Amino acid sequence: MSDISLFPRHSAVDADGALSIGGVSVSALVGEYGTPLFIYDEQHLRETCREAVAAFGSDNVIYASKAFLCVAMARLAHEEGLLIDVATGGELFVALTAGVPASSCVLHGNNKSDDELRTALEAGVRHIVVDSFGEIERIEKLVSSGLPIPRVQLRITPGVHVHTHEYVSTGQDDSKFGFNLNNGDAHRAVERARSSSAMQLVGIHCHIGSNVFDVDNFEDAWKVMVDLFLPLELPEITMGGGLGVAYTTRDTAPTIEQWASVLSRVTTRLPAGTKVYVEPGRSIVAAAGVTAYSVGTVKDIDGIRRYVSVDGGMSDNPRPMMYGSEYEVFDSNNMLAARTSSARIVGKHCESGDILILDAQVTPDIAIGDVLVMPVTGAYGYSMASNYNKVPRPGVVFVGQGQSRLVVRRETLEDLVRLDQ
Ligand SMILES: *Cc1c(COP(=O)(O)O)cnc(C)c1O
Repeated sequence: MSDISLFPRHSAVDADGALSIGGVSVSALVGEYGTPLFIYDEQHLRETCREAVAAFGSDNVIYASKAFLCVAMARLAHEEGLLIDVATGGELFVALTAGVPASSCVLHGNNKSDDELRTALEAGVRHIVVDSFGEIERIEKLVSSGLPIPRVQLRITPGVHVHTHEYVSTGQDDSKFGFNLNNGDAHRAVERARSSSAMQLVGIHCHIGSNVFDVDNFEDAWKVMVDLFLPLELPEITMGGGLGVAYTTRDTAPTIEQWASVLSRVTTRLPAGTKVYVEPGRSIVAAAGVTAYSVGTVKDIDGIRRYVSVDGGMSDNPRPMMYGSEYEVFDSNNMLAARTSSARIVGKHCESGDILILDAQVTPDIAIGDVLVMPVTGAYGYSMASNYNKVPRPGVVFVGQGQSRLVVRRETLEDLVRLDQ
Protein backbone atom coordinates (compact mmCIF):
# COMPACT_ATOMS: atom_id res chain seq x y z
CA MET A 1 0.00 0.00 0.00
CA SER A 2 1.40 3.33 -0.99
CA ASP A 3 1.69 6.08 1.57
CA ILE A 4 -0.46 8.90 0.18
CA SER A 5 0.43 11.41 2.89
CA LEU A 6 2.15 13.66 0.36
CA PHE A 7 -0.99 13.90 -1.77
CA PRO A 8 -3.68 16.57 -1.51
CA ARG A 9 -5.99 15.99 1.43
CA HIS A 10 -8.97 14.78 -0.57
CA SER A 11 -7.09 12.04 -2.39
CA ALA A 12 -7.98 8.38 -2.29
CA VAL A 13 -6.86 5.06 -3.74
CA ASP A 14 -9.48 2.54 -4.80
CA ALA A 15 -9.31 -1.26 -4.51
CA ASP A 16 -7.64 -1.50 -7.93
CA GLY A 17 -4.92 0.94 -6.94
CA ALA A 18 -6.22 3.90 -8.94
CA LEU A 19 -5.65 7.37 -7.51
CA SER A 20 -8.38 9.98 -7.32
CA ILE A 21 -8.15 13.59 -6.16
CA GLY A 22 -11.19 15.57 -5.09
CA GLY A 23 -13.33 12.62 -6.04
CA VAL A 24 -12.13 12.52 -9.66
CA SER A 25 -9.86 9.75 -10.89
CA VAL A 26 -6.54 10.91 -12.23
CA SER A 27 -6.99 8.73 -15.30
CA ALA A 28 -10.28 10.50 -16.09
CA LEU A 29 -8.59 13.89 -15.67
CA VAL A 30 -5.74 12.89 -17.93
CA GLY A 31 -8.22 11.49 -20.45
CA GLU A 32 -10.04 14.81 -20.54
CA TYR A 33 -7.19 17.33 -20.25
CA GLY A 34 -4.04 15.46 -21.31
CA THR A 35 -0.59 15.53 -19.74
CA PRO A 36 1.40 17.17 -18.31
CA LEU A 37 -1.34 18.54 -16.10
CA PHE A 38 -1.37 20.50 -12.85
CA ILE A 39 -4.19 19.20 -10.65
CA TYR A 40 -5.23 21.17 -7.54
CA ASP A 41 -7.52 19.91 -4.81
CA GLU A 42 -9.69 23.01 -4.44
CA GLN A 43 -10.96 22.06 -1.00
CA HIS A 44 -7.40 21.63 0.22
CA LEU A 45 -6.54 25.13 -1.06
CA ARG A 46 -9.54 26.57 0.77
CA GLU A 47 -8.68 24.69 3.95
CA THR A 48 -5.10 25.99 4.11
CA CYS A 49 -6.39 29.53 3.49
CA ARG A 50 -8.89 29.09 6.32
CA GLU A 51 -6.26 27.63 8.64
CA ALA A 52 -4.05 30.66 8.04
CA VAL A 53 -6.92 33.06 8.68
CA ALA A 54 -7.89 31.16 11.84
CA ALA A 55 -4.29 31.16 13.08
CA PHE A 56 -3.33 34.77 12.30
CA GLY A 57 -6.67 36.58 12.19
CA SER A 58 -8.75 37.83 9.31
CA ASP A 59 -7.28 40.67 7.28
CA ASN A 60 -3.76 39.73 8.50
CA VAL A 61 -2.83 37.02 6.00
CA ILE A 62 -1.35 38.17 2.71
CA TYR A 63 -1.06 35.36 0.15
CA ALA A 64 2.32 35.57 -1.63
CA SER A 65 0.94 35.11 -5.11
CA LYS A 66 4.22 34.30 -6.81
CA ALA A 67 3.87 30.75 -5.43
CA PHE A 68 0.91 30.13 -7.75
CA LEU A 69 -1.21 32.75 -9.43
CA CYS A 70 -3.99 32.68 -11.96
CA VAL A 71 -7.39 34.37 -11.97
CA ALA A 72 -9.06 31.42 -10.23
CA MET A 73 -6.42 31.29 -7.49
CA ALA A 74 -6.56 35.05 -6.84
CA ARG A 75 -10.34 34.79 -6.58
CA LEU A 76 -10.16 31.80 -4.27
CA ALA A 77 -7.67 33.48 -1.93
CA HIS A 78 -9.78 36.65 -1.89
CA GLU A 79 -12.99 34.69 -1.21
CA GLU A 80 -11.27 33.00 1.72
CA GLY A 81 -10.32 36.36 3.24
CA LEU A 82 -6.66 36.56 2.25
CA LEU A 83 -5.01 39.69 0.94
CA ILE A 84 -2.73 39.32 -2.08
CA ASP A 85 1.01 40.06 -2.20
CA VAL A 86 2.08 41.03 -5.71
CA ALA A 87 5.72 41.59 -6.60
CA THR A 88 5.25 42.96 -10.11
CA GLY A 89 2.80 44.90 -12.22
CA GLY A 90 1.96 41.59 -13.89
CA GLU A 91 0.92 39.93 -10.65
CA LEU A 92 -1.08 43.05 -9.74
CA PHE A 93 -2.79 42.93 -13.13
CA VAL A 94 -3.84 39.29 -12.62
CA ALA A 95 -5.20 40.02 -9.13
CA LEU A 96 -7.16 43.05 -10.35
CA THR A 97 -8.41 41.09 -13.38
CA ALA A 98 -9.70 38.47 -10.94
CA GLY A 99 -11.78 41.17 -9.27
CA VAL A 100 -9.62 41.48 -6.16
CA PRO A 101 -9.88 45.11 -5.00
CA ALA A 102 -6.60 47.02 -4.99
CA SER A 103 -7.17 47.71 -1.31
CA SER A 104 -6.62 43.97 -0.77
CA CYS A 105 -3.30 43.99 -2.64
CA VAL A 106 0.16 44.78 -1.34
CA LEU A 107 3.00 45.69 -3.72
CA HIS A 108 6.51 44.29 -3.23
CA GLY A 109 9.67 44.19 -5.27
CA ASN A 110 13.31 45.22 -5.04
CA ASN A 111 13.19 46.98 -8.40
CA LYS A 112 9.73 48.32 -9.04
CA SER A 113 9.47 50.32 -12.23
CA ASP A 114 7.88 53.76 -12.37
CA ASP A 115 5.01 52.17 -14.28
CA GLU A 116 4.48 49.57 -11.58
CA LEU A 117 4.53 52.22 -8.86
CA ARG A 118 2.20 54.49 -10.82
CA THR A 119 -0.30 51.67 -11.39
CA ALA A 120 -0.22 50.74 -7.71
CA LEU A 121 -0.74 54.36 -6.62
CA GLU A 122 -3.54 54.94 -9.09
CA ALA A 123 -5.26 51.69 -8.19
CA GLY A 124 -4.88 52.35 -4.47
CA VAL A 125 -3.12 49.27 -3.14
CA ARG A 126 -3.29 48.73 0.62
CA HIS A 127 0.38 49.53 1.01
CA ILE A 128 3.66 49.46 -0.83
CA VAL A 129 6.60 47.66 0.73
CA VAL A 130 9.43 50.05 -0.11
CA ASP A 131 12.77 48.36 -0.73
CA SER A 132 15.35 51.11 -1.40
CA PHE A 133 16.22 54.81 -1.03
CA GLY A 134 15.85 55.19 -4.78
CA GLU A 135 12.30 53.92 -4.55
CA ILE A 136 11.45 56.53 -1.89
CA GLU A 137 12.61 59.24 -4.30
CA ARG A 138 10.65 57.77 -7.17
CA ILE A 139 7.47 57.64 -5.09
CA GLU A 140 8.03 61.29 -4.16
CA LYS A 141 8.31 62.21 -7.82
CA LEU A 142 5.12 60.36 -8.71
CA VAL A 143 3.21 61.93 -5.81
CA SER A 144 4.44 65.39 -6.76
CA SER A 145 2.96 64.79 -10.21
CA GLY A 146 -0.46 64.44 -8.58
CA LEU A 147 -0.81 60.79 -7.63
CA PRO A 148 -2.28 59.83 -4.24
CA ILE A 149 -0.01 59.52 -1.17
CA PRO A 150 0.54 55.81 -0.44
CA ARG A 151 0.75 53.99 2.85
CA VAL A 152 4.18 52.36 2.95
CA GLN A 153 6.08 49.78 4.93
CA LEU A 154 9.84 49.47 4.74
CA ARG A 155 11.46 46.16 3.97
CA ILE A 156 14.16 45.47 6.52
CA THR A 157 16.96 42.93 6.14
CA PRO A 158 17.41 41.85 9.74
CA GLY A 159 20.80 40.19 9.19
CA VAL A 160 19.89 36.63 10.10
CA HIS A 161 20.94 33.37 8.51
CA VAL A 162 18.32 30.72 7.89
CA HIS A 163 18.60 27.07 7.05
CA THR A 164 17.47 26.93 3.46
CA HIS A 165 18.89 27.12 -0.05
CA GLU A 166 21.08 30.19 -0.64
CA TYR A 167 18.90 31.29 -3.55
CA VAL A 168 15.82 31.56 -1.36
CA SER A 169 17.51 33.03 1.70
CA THR A 170 16.64 36.72 1.90
CA GLY A 171 17.25 37.98 5.44
CA GLN A 172 21.06 38.02 5.58
CA ASP A 173 23.19 41.18 5.40
CA ASP A 174 24.45 40.33 1.92
CA SER A 175 21.10 40.57 0.12
CA LYS A 176 19.63 42.52 -2.76
CA PHE A 177 16.45 43.01 -0.72
CA GLY A 178 15.57 45.78 1.65
CA PHE A 179 17.24 48.13 4.08
CA ASN A 180 20.11 46.65 6.01
CA LEU A 181 19.60 46.79 9.76
CA ASN A 182 23.20 46.24 10.78
CA ASN A 183 24.74 49.05 8.75
CA GLY A 184 22.19 51.64 9.86
CA ASP A 185 20.27 51.87 6.58
CA ALA A 186 17.08 50.65 8.25
CA HIS A 187 17.06 53.54 10.72
CA ARG A 188 18.04 56.04 8.03
CA ALA A 189 15.17 54.78 5.86
CA VAL A 190 12.68 55.16 8.71
CA GLU A 191 13.75 58.78 9.23
CA ARG A 192 13.74 59.45 5.51
CA ALA A 193 10.24 58.00 4.97
CA ARG A 194 8.88 59.65 8.12
CA SER A 195 9.99 63.08 7.06
CA SER A 196 8.59 62.69 3.55
CA SER A 197 5.27 64.33 2.82
CA ALA A 198 4.80 61.99 -0.14
CA MET A 199 4.18 58.84 1.88
CA GLN A 200 2.59 57.70 5.08
CA LEU A 201 4.98 55.35 6.87
CA VAL A 202 2.81 52.73 8.59
CA GLY A 203 5.19 49.90 9.36
CA ILE A 204 8.18 47.70 8.79
CA HIS A 205 8.46 44.41 6.97
CA CYS A 206 10.77 41.42 6.80
CA HIS A 207 10.83 38.16 4.88
CA ILE A 208 13.77 35.98 5.79
CA GLY A 209 13.56 33.31 3.12
CA SER A 210 11.55 30.46 1.73
CA ASN A 211 11.06 26.78 2.55
CA VAL A 212 12.33 27.26 6.11
CA PHE A 213 11.74 24.20 8.32
CA ASP A 214 13.22 25.36 11.59
CA VAL A 215 10.78 27.63 13.40
CA ASP A 216 13.65 28.92 15.58
CA ASN A 217 14.90 30.79 12.48
CA PHE A 218 11.63 32.71 12.36
CA GLU A 219 11.70 33.39 16.07
CA ASP A 220 15.25 34.79 15.90
CA ALA A 221 14.42 37.14 13.02
CA TRP A 222 11.07 38.20 14.46
CA LYS A 223 12.69 39.09 17.80
CA VAL A 224 15.12 41.35 15.97
CA MET A 225 12.19 42.94 14.14
CA VAL A 226 10.21 43.50 17.33
CA ASP A 227 13.26 45.13 18.96
CA LEU A 228 13.53 47.46 15.98
CA PHE A 229 9.78 48.09 15.86
CA LEU A 230 9.01 49.01 19.49
CA PRO A 231 10.80 52.38 19.73
CA LEU A 232 9.52 53.43 16.29
CA GLU A 233 5.91 53.53 17.54
CA LEU A 234 4.42 52.48 14.21
CA PRO A 235 1.04 50.77 13.84
CA GLU A 236 1.97 47.79 11.60
CA ILE A 237 4.57 45.06 11.20
CA THR A 238 4.80 42.33 8.54
CA MET A 239 6.66 39.13 9.36
CA GLY A 240 6.90 37.65 5.85
CA GLY A 241 6.32 34.11 4.67
CA GLY A 242 8.69 31.22 4.21
CA LEU A 243 7.18 28.28 6.08
CA GLY A 244 8.58 25.07 4.60
CA VAL A 245 6.55 22.11 3.38
CA ALA A 246 7.29 18.37 3.18
CA TYR A 247 8.18 17.38 -0.38
CA THR A 248 9.11 13.79 0.44
CA THR A 249 8.09 11.36 3.15
CA ARG A 250 11.49 12.01 4.79
CA ASP A 251 10.62 15.66 5.46
CA THR A 252 8.64 16.93 8.41
CA ALA A 253 7.50 20.53 8.23
CA PRO A 254 5.87 22.64 10.94
CA THR A 255 2.16 23.27 10.50
CA ILE A 256 0.64 26.71 9.98
CA GLU A 257 -0.66 26.51 13.58
CA GLN A 258 2.85 25.81 14.92
CA TRP A 259 4.21 28.70 12.90
CA ALA A 260 1.49 30.94 14.34
CA SER A 261 2.26 29.88 17.90
CA VAL A 262 5.91 30.87 17.44
CA LEU A 263 4.72 34.23 16.17
CA SER A 264 2.42 34.74 19.12
CA ARG A 265 5.35 34.19 21.52
CA VAL A 266 7.15 37.08 19.86
CA THR A 267 4.21 39.43 19.40
CA THR A 268 3.19 39.40 23.07
CA ARG A 269 5.74 42.22 23.41
CA LEU A 270 3.88 44.43 20.92
CA PRO A 271 1.48 47.14 22.11
CA ALA A 272 -2.19 46.16 21.96
CA GLY A 273 -3.71 47.02 18.61
CA THR A 274 -0.52 46.53 16.59
CA LYS A 275 -1.42 45.10 13.21
CA VAL A 276 0.67 42.02 12.44
CA TYR A 277 0.66 40.68 8.90
CA VAL A 278 2.15 37.42 7.58
CA GLU A 279 2.75 36.49 3.93
CA PRO A 280 2.62 32.72 3.36
CA GLY A 281 2.86 31.45 -0.22
CA ARG A 282 4.23 27.92 -0.43
CA SER A 283 2.47 26.64 2.68
CA ILE A 284 -0.91 27.66 1.25
CA VAL A 285 -0.64 25.96 -2.14
CA ALA A 286 2.25 23.48 -2.39
CA ALA A 287 0.64 20.32 -1.06
CA ALA A 288 -2.71 21.04 -2.70
CA GLY A 289 -1.23 20.52 -6.17
CA VAL A 290 0.26 17.63 -8.10
CA THR A 291 1.62 17.21 -11.62
CA ALA A 292 0.53 14.30 -13.81
CA TYR A 293 2.95 13.21 -16.52
CA SER A 294 2.92 10.42 -19.10
CA VAL A 295 5.91 8.13 -19.40
CA GLY A 296 7.25 8.25 -22.95
CA THR A 297 10.53 6.35 -22.74
CA VAL A 298 12.08 3.82 -20.38
CA LYS A 299 15.77 3.16 -20.89
CA ASP A 300 17.87 0.71 -18.90
CA ILE A 301 21.63 1.08 -18.92
CA ASP A 302 22.95 -2.15 -17.48
CA GLY A 303 24.87 -1.66 -14.29
CA ILE A 304 24.30 2.08 -14.38
CA ARG A 305 20.65 3.08 -14.04
CA ARG A 306 17.17 3.23 -15.47
CA TYR A 307 15.99 6.47 -17.07
CA VAL A 308 12.28 7.21 -17.20
CA SER A 309 11.39 10.16 -19.46
CA VAL A 310 8.15 12.06 -18.97
CA ASP A 311 6.40 14.57 -21.22
CA GLY A 312 7.37 17.68 -19.21
CA GLY A 313 10.38 18.50 -17.08
CA MET A 314 12.33 21.64 -16.30
CA SER A 315 9.80 23.75 -18.21
CA ASP A 316 7.00 22.95 -15.76
CA ASN A 317 9.16 22.38 -12.67
CA PRO A 318 12.58 24.04 -12.60
CA ARG A 319 12.98 23.58 -8.83
CA PRO A 320 15.05 20.37 -8.94
CA MET A 321 17.46 22.04 -11.35
CA MET A 322 17.57 25.39 -9.53
CA TYR A 323 17.67 24.26 -5.92
CA GLY A 324 18.32 20.52 -6.01
CA SER A 325 14.79 20.08 -4.67
CA GLU A 326 13.61 16.54 -4.04
CA TYR A 327 10.30 14.96 -4.95
CA GLU A 328 8.67 11.56 -5.08
CA VAL A 329 6.62 10.04 -7.86
CA PHE A 330 3.78 7.51 -7.99
CA ASP A 331 2.05 5.47 -10.67
CA SER A 332 -1.50 6.84 -10.60
CA ASN A 333 -3.05 3.56 -11.74
CA ASN A 334 -0.89 1.28 -9.65
CA MET A 335 -0.81 2.89 -6.24
CA LEU A 336 -0.94 -0.42 -4.34
CA ALA A 337 2.27 -1.81 -5.84
CA ALA A 338 5.48 -1.41 -3.87
CA ARG A 339 7.97 1.07 -5.32
CA THR A 340 10.99 -1.20 -5.00
CA SER A 341 12.92 -0.22 -8.10
CA SER A 342 14.96 2.91 -8.63
CA ALA A 343 15.03 5.20 -11.64
CA ARG A 344 16.00 8.70 -12.64
CA ILE A 345 12.94 10.69 -13.70
CA VAL A 346 13.87 13.08 -16.49
CA GLY A 347 12.05 15.50 -18.75
CA LYS A 348 11.93 15.90 -22.52
CA HIS A 349 14.21 18.93 -22.80
CA CYS A 350 17.56 19.03 -24.56
CA GLU A 351 19.60 19.23 -21.36
CA SER A 352 21.17 16.45 -19.32
CA GLY A 353 20.30 18.55 -16.26
CA ASP A 354 16.60 18.30 -17.08
CA ILE A 355 16.07 16.02 -14.10
CA LEU A 356 12.92 15.91 -12.01
CA ILE A 357 14.07 13.23 -9.57
CA LEU A 358 17.68 12.13 -9.34
CA ASP A 359 16.96 8.79 -7.73
CA ALA A 360 13.27 7.95 -7.53
CA GLN A 361 11.62 4.85 -6.14
CA VAL A 362 9.25 3.40 -8.74
CA THR A 363 7.34 0.20 -9.32
CA PRO A 364 9.53 -2.40 -11.09
CA ASP A 365 7.11 -2.74 -14.02
CA ILE A 366 7.05 0.97 -14.86
CA ALA A 367 6.33 1.24 -18.58
CA ILE A 368 5.65 3.53 -21.48
CA GLY A 369 2.16 5.03 -21.20
CA ASP A 370 2.02 4.97 -17.41
CA VAL A 371 0.69 8.14 -15.84
CA LEU A 372 3.02 9.26 -13.08
CA VAL A 373 1.92 11.72 -10.47
CA MET A 374 4.38 13.92 -8.62
CA PRO A 375 2.88 15.35 -5.42
CA VAL A 376 3.58 18.73 -3.78
CA THR A 377 4.08 20.66 -7.01
CA GLY A 378 1.45 23.29 -6.19
CA ALA A 379 3.96 26.05 -5.36
CA TYR A 380 6.63 27.48 -7.67
CA GLY A 381 5.81 24.96 -10.38
CA TYR A 382 3.30 26.47 -12.76
CA SER A 383 4.38 29.95 -11.67
CA MET A 384 7.95 29.24 -12.78
CA ALA A 385 6.96 27.37 -15.95
CA SER A 386 8.55 28.34 -19.25
CA ASN A 387 8.26 27.53 -22.93
CA TYR A 388 11.80 26.18 -23.19
CA ASN A 389 12.17 24.03 -26.29
CA LYS A 390 8.86 25.58 -27.35
CA VAL A 391 6.99 23.21 -25.10
CA PRO A 392 3.47 24.56 -24.49
CA ARG A 393 2.75 25.16 -20.81
CA PRO A 394 0.45 22.56 -19.18
CA GLY A 395 -3.17 23.14 -18.26
CA VAL A 396 -4.29 23.66 -14.67
CA VAL A 397 -7.44 22.07 -13.26
CA PHE A 398 -9.20 22.50 -9.94
CA VAL A 399 -10.98 19.39 -8.67
CA GLY A 400 -13.44 18.88 -5.85
CA GLN A 401 -16.57 16.97 -4.95
CA GLY A 402 -16.30 14.75 -7.97
CA GLN A 403 -16.04 17.66 -10.43
CA SER A 404 -13.19 19.21 -12.33
CA ARG A 405 -12.89 22.63 -13.90
CA LEU A 406 -10.17 23.91 -16.15
CA VAL A 407 -8.79 27.15 -14.66
CA VAL A 408 -5.88 27.69 -17.06
CA ARG A 409 -6.04 26.01 -20.45
CA ARG A 410 -3.07 24.18 -21.88
CA GLU A 411 -1.12 26.32 -24.33
CA THR A 412 -1.50 25.49 -27.99
CA LEU A 413 1.10 25.56 -30.71
CA GLU A 414 -0.48 28.83 -31.92
CA ASP A 415 0.23 30.34 -28.50
CA LEU A 416 3.90 29.70 -29.16
CA VAL A 417 3.96 32.15 -32.06
CA ARG A 418 1.41 34.70 -30.86
CA LEU A 419 4.08 37.29 -30.07
CA ASP A 420 6.02 36.86 -33.28
CA GLN A 421 5.62 39.74 -35.72
C1 LIG B 1 8.20 34.80 -1.67
C2 LIG B 1 7.77 35.74 -0.62
C3 LIG B 1 6.87 35.32 0.36
C4 LIG B 1 6.34 33.91 0.43
O1 LIG B 1 7.30 32.95 0.64
P1 LIG B 1 6.87 31.42 0.80
O2 LIG B 1 8.14 30.74 1.08
O3 LIG B 1 6.26 30.99 -0.46
O4 LIG B 1 5.91 31.35 1.95
C5 LIG B 1 6.46 36.24 1.28
N1 LIG B 1 6.90 37.52 1.27
C6 LIG B 1 7.76 37.96 0.34
C7 LIG B 1 8.19 39.37 0.35
C8 LIG B 1 8.23 37.08 -0.62
O5 LIG B 1 9.09 37.53 -1.54
